[in-house]
Amino acid sequence: MAELLSRNKHEAELRAIVRRMTKPLKEELAAYMKTAKYLSDVPQEFWDRARAVIQQNDELSALLLIMFTKTAEQHVPGINVNDAGNAYVTKRLRSIAPSYVQWSRRMAADAIRGMRQSGGATAGGIKYAVNRIFGKHRADVIGNTEGNLSMINGGEAAIRKAKIEVIRIWAHSRLRPSGHSNAATKPCPICSPREGKAEDEWGGYEPGHGHPGCDCLVLHLDRYGNVIGDDGTFSDTLERFRDRLPAGWLREKE
Ligand SMILES: [Zn+2]
Repeated sequence: MAELLSRNKHEAELRAIVRRMTKPLKEELAAYMKTAKYLSDVPQEFWDRARAVIQQNDELSALLLIMFTKTAEQHVPGINVNDAGNAYVTKRLRSIAPSYVQWSRRMAADAIRGMRQSGGATAGGIKYAVNRIFGKHRADVIGNTEGNLSMINGGEAAIRKAKIEVIRIWAHSRLRPSGHSNAATKPCPICSPREGKAEDEWGGYEPGHGHPGCDCLVLHLDRYGNVIGDDGTFSDTLERFRDRLPAGWLREKE
């Protein structure tokens, strides 16, 4: 995957959309929690609405689709992946909405029980709970995660549709803070030996999950040494670890 050039701008918009969507839910839940003794005192209709907020938000789906299709075009100019993008976004939101609500209910149940057991609801207790459930931090996590996934899936959809023969390579950007893959100080013991290698040598690990804060990524490399969707300025993995590519993958240019 190459990174979408306008990623930061889109992700800031995504975070703002999710915050706008969940703020009224936060206020409504706070009102219920003033008198709720049990989770069942919060109407089921409220949770159904919370689910619909994630699943059927036009602004959110439109922006996720834009990130999907723009990344696809950055990978393969002129490619049209609108159908794949629509299918991806619809399916993705339908799958995350129920778990979003389930987790919200669990956090609300804990908060309500905690306040009941410690002598009743307090303004501070309610504020703390609803901020965890429908506040800024959780909204931001959703915005960032979903933006990143739309980008990755859009890039891969373009490569599939164009039937470009690629291998997936473990990679890192040129900037390598301490603790990261092949950093000058404390290089990450998981990522460093895997960088530059193809997927079947990753030993069950995935780039981005090597250690907390891991920002390793996948480069899609064709048979002529081109990184799909990237002009090579972002990552120096191939300059540094070309000898780690599988033997016989690269063909001479005609
Ligand atoms: Zn890493």
